[in-house]
Amino acid sequence: MARIVAKFGGTSVADTARIERAADKIAAEVARGHEVAVVVSAMSGVTNQLVEYCRQISPGHDAREYDAVVASGEQVTAGLMAIALQKRGVAARSWMGWQVPLRTDDVHGKARILDIDTTRMSDSMRAKEVPVLAGFQGVTDEQRISTLGRGGSDTTGVALASALKADRCDIYTDVDGVYTTDPRIVPEARKINKISYEEMLELASLGAKVLQVRSVEMAFKQNMPVQVLSSFDDAIGSDLPGTLVTREEDIMEKSVVNGVAYSKDDAKITLAGVPDVPGVAAKLFGPLADANVNVDMIVQNVSLDGKSTDMTFTVPLGELDRAKDVLSKIKEFKGVKVLTDTQIAKVSVVGIGMRSHAGVALTMFKALAERGINIYVISTSEIKISVIISKEYLELAVRALHTAYGLDKTA
Ligand code: ADP
Ligand code: ASP
Ligand code: MG
Repeated sequence: MARIVAKFGGTSVADTARIERAADKIAAEVARGHEVAVVVSAMSGVTNQLVEYCRQISPGHDAREYDAVVASGEQVTAGLMAIALQKRGVAARSWMGWQVPLRTDDVHGKARILDIDTTRMSDSMRAKEVPVLAGFQGVTDEQRISTLGRGGSDTTGVALASALKADRCDIYTDVDGVYTTDPRIVPEARKINKISYEEMLELASLGAKVLQVRSVEMAFKQNMPVQVLSSFDDAIGSDLPGTLVTREEDIMEKSVVNGVAYSKDDAKITLAGVPDVPGVAAKLFGPLADANVNVDMIVQNVSLDGKSTDMTFTVPLGELDRAKDVLSKIKEFKGVKVLTDTQIAKVSVVGIGMRSHAGVALTMFKALAERGINIYVISTSEIKISVIISKEYLELAVRALHTAYGLDKTA
């Protein structure tokens, strides 16, 4: 007998028929003698609609009320899932974050989980009741409802699995595992059977939204096995048909490049004619950090005349206006020209085998050059290489890299 947390994403609970299908899987796991706790997302599209309602009334809305509104989608599906389980003769009850309680900090809209008190939930599980926890939401010490950021139900799933000391967290979604790249844009993408926490963390933070970044961070820290699988297939989680996210030591085959990720959520800022004197970078990035602007990739050109230079960096698209505002207030940068570009995309290749292989970057640069794709900015870490290119070449670049690293299904 295993203890399993099963999380169902938005498309897996998109309507009552899908909720019933998900309930069938849970009932089958229970019938096999497993102890199951369930985490659900809102029906697909619902959270977007709720976010839009807040924006329509006031774009600068109170973040606490935003959370009260957007957390409601998960309340509906938790109740419906409990009803669907009861219909199958499985004792079940819904739990809202505040009822558990699942405590978070007070960073509304992007709160972090502080702890989950599972005392009452464990009692109910001992009495053979399946708990159905509303994902994405928690409660602050001020007794306000909080939410964990978009895609946050994945994090609820992993956090609950670790609090309940589960054997595994199953993430049911609309694809049957983690692929070498987004299967929606590259049909040749291959399913990965096992992937390391490190690689999954890079892929998720570089744009592969199949798992929320924080859920992977938490699984890595807690050493919690996570399995991504489809809720549309007939198989159930215990038959292990999906992708297992696990420790590097448990993976025999270490690919040089295991996946390609992309994101369209960045903007590029170039400062032309920055004075080439010590301390300039601190004068620039200090105020940006103070204003909570997340600077990602940075390049500074060598000064040709010894007096001034150019500096380019990327920021999240949603933080561009704030960044521009900060820049306009730095007095040392009075004569500096600020050029912004929102038509960019970031494409990254990730693989733990990169640590022990040379020439990985060269393959990337050649593949892009052959298609006439210009690289604006490059950044690397031990297991990833990212480039910024023009947004119009995004799909072409992802496909080209997928082929160049031998990831295509037919290869
Ligand atoms: P859910 O609603 O179940 O949480 P998401 O839409 O958040 O589902 O995540 C699943 C989606 O992630 C897939 O439909 C797929 O388009 C996308 N995706 C992006 N990169 C990958 C990848 N490398 N492997 C699998 N899916 C990916
Ligand atoms: N419903 C939330 C969202 O759409 C959380 C989730 O689905 O994970 O972002
Ligand atoms: Mg998701």
